Formats: sequence, structure tokens, C-alpha cells
Amino acid sequence: MRLTTTRICHQLATGLLSGLLALGAGAQTPAPAPNTTGPSGSGVNNALLYAVAWKQTAAEYRALYYQGFNVARMHVQAALAKRKSGDKPLAVVTDMDDTILHTVNYWGNLINQNKDFFDDPIWDRWIPENKVTAAPGATEFLKFCSDNGVEVFYVTSRDQGPKTYEYAMGHLRLLGYPNADEQHLTVLIDTSNKEKRQDEVMQTHQVAVFLGDNLNDFRRKYYIKGDVDKRFAAMEADREKYGREYVLFPNPTDGHWLAAIFGESEPPPSDANREILKKAATRSAWQGQ
Ligand SMILES: [Mg+2]
Repeated sequence: MRLTTTRICHQLATGLLSGLLALGAGAQTPAPAPNTTGPSGSGVNNALLYAVAWKQTAAEYRALYYQGFNVARMHVQAALAKRKSGDKPLAVVTDMDDTILHTVNYWGNLINQNKDFFDDPIWDRWIPENKVTAAPGATEFLKFCSDNGVEVFYVTSRDQGPKTYEYAMGHLRLLGYPNADEQHLTVLIDTSNKEKRQDEVMQTHQVAVFLGDNLNDFRRKYYIKGDVDKRFAAMEADREKYGREYVLFPNPTDGHWLAAIFGESEPPPSDANREILKKAATRSAWQGQ
């Protein structure tokens, strides 16, 4: 319905009055630009909905974890079969979040709070709540390793202040994962570069397989900011390693793939970043209708 003349006059008068009141209150500083395109109201316009709904409901999402852990188990079995005396002990090196731990209810919380970008303060409040769950197939795979004398090394990047390590260890113990001790858990607070620790483990152990949801969980060279094509090229150069040395789990909500788009992996919620996200989503787009 179109506005009637009376309603228009009323709205003009109300707007003029509000403006005069604002000037009278000495409001010289312009208000910050509103978040015009972020989630609002009931949040059905949240850009994260598809990705989080997929994590929450897709049997395919869970099946990809079983697939990953089945592949990893085959590599561990093959390495066990080839062992001879004098060999280095066997090991698996794994990331934690979204690899052996699921964080889905954190993302559900963000949706309920009308957040459409990763929220660090909420994440830091969520971690000590011990709401992590075992990724599908993780418990069985890690038990298989433990039962066969294969050591599991956990390398994660987290920062929740002085208790960061304690919280991470708590998560491993909560889920009953093996090798939950200081020799096997490394928590990187100041960096996401896992390579130094991975190299240390490789000096003393034969690593049967690396597990992660982020290419950076395998090698640092994939940590490429602001250049999607360069990151593609780095991955393509190692295409033979996927499913062999490296087992990758899916993560459509967060990770360094975002750094290739935004230049940082935890971009702040802003309309400018929503525009960048749309540009990424239309990188290839048919022009028809
Ligand atoms: Mg991870």
C-alpha cells in the first residue's frame, strides 16, 4: 500500500522534530553507520544459516567424518603391517576443533544471537563450558590407535588466556581420548603455525597420517592470506597427499579458507565484509536468469 498524503506529512513532521531534538541535545558526532545487511529480527537473513544447518543436520557431514577416520585407519593398519624391529614408534598427528571435536552447538548459539561471523568473545566463553562433542568416528579411531600402540599427538591453536592449556586438556579427557597428557598435547597460543611441533614429532616417530579440517593442520605453506588462487595452487601442488598422508575433514563455517578471502581468518562483522563474502560467492556466476 502506498503512503497517504496525511501519513507522509505526519512522518515529515515527526522526523523534523526528532532532528531538532537531536541537535538540541548537542549530538554533533554522527552515529556509526548501522549494520544494514546483518542478521535482524528473527535472524532468517543470517548469511551463516546454510553452513550451520548443514553441520547440524546433514547425514553427509557426519558421513564425511566416518569416511575420514576409515581412511585414516587403513593407513594406520598398513603402517602397522609394515613395521619391523628398530623402526620409530608409530604416531598419528591430529588437530582438535572440527577434526576430533565437534563445535556445532557454538555455531547454533551464534545463530540464535544473530551473529553472522565467528565471535571470539563468545567462543572464549563457550570453551570452558565443555560443550564439545566427539566428532563421528573419532572415539573409535583413536581407541584403535591406542589399542595398537600408536601414539596420538594433538596440536591445536587456541587462546583463552592462562587456562587455555587446561581447557584443551579437559576436552580430551572429557571425551576419553588416549594420550591426554603433556607429552602429547601441544597448544599454540601465539601462533597457528603447527609445523615446528609436527617436525619434532616426525623426528622421533613415524607419522602414519595427519588429520585436520584446515590445510594449515598439514603444512604451514597453505597459510595464504588474501589470495584464493595462490592457496588453490599450493593445495594442487600436493594433490597426491590428500587421503594418503593427509586426511581432511569438512568445515564450511571457519578456518584459514576465510583468510584467503578476507585477509584474516576471523573477519569482523561489517557490511564491507558481507560485500566481500558475496563477491566470493559469485566468483564464478552464470549471467543468465
Ligand atoms: Mg580445526
